[in-house]
Amino acid sequence: MSGFYFKSMDVMKSGKQRRAEIMEKRRARIPAKESFDVYAMPAPVGAVMANCEALSHNKNAIFLPLFYVDYAFNCRDCGCAQIWTGKQQKWWYEIMQGNINSVAIRCRPCRKIEQQRKKQARDTHLSSLATKHKQ
Ligand SMILES: [Zn+2]
Repeated sequence: MSGFYFKSMDVMKSGKQRRAEIMEKRRARIPAKESFDVYAMPAPVGAVMANCEALSHNKNAIFLPLFYVDYAFNCRDCGCAQIWTGKQQKWWYEIMQGNINSVAIRCRPCRKIEQQRKKQARDTHLSSLATKHKQ
């Protein structure tokens, strides 16, 4: 029998046991309680408070906002600088039940054009389907 067998008792431990030990060491390194509580922090000035219940349609969301702040962006189509206000966000997420991961990408005129384009494409598609089925 070789000495190796006795020296390496650690090898005898299962992967599960070893993982548990590593996690234990890691936990000891991290302080148990963080020094600040994000929920206790005041909302920024001008923020629009969110209604948690109105956001409950986001079933898989890990994080739901506590408030909305103005969001600056450039329109995808024309590139103009835009601001999506906290109030508009509240309307979109809570009243229109928009997905929490969706954000504004177009200015109002470009959005209107895009809606028109989509409608036209849908109409063309449906009418072509209708003529196809008639034949
Ligand atoms: Zn635009």
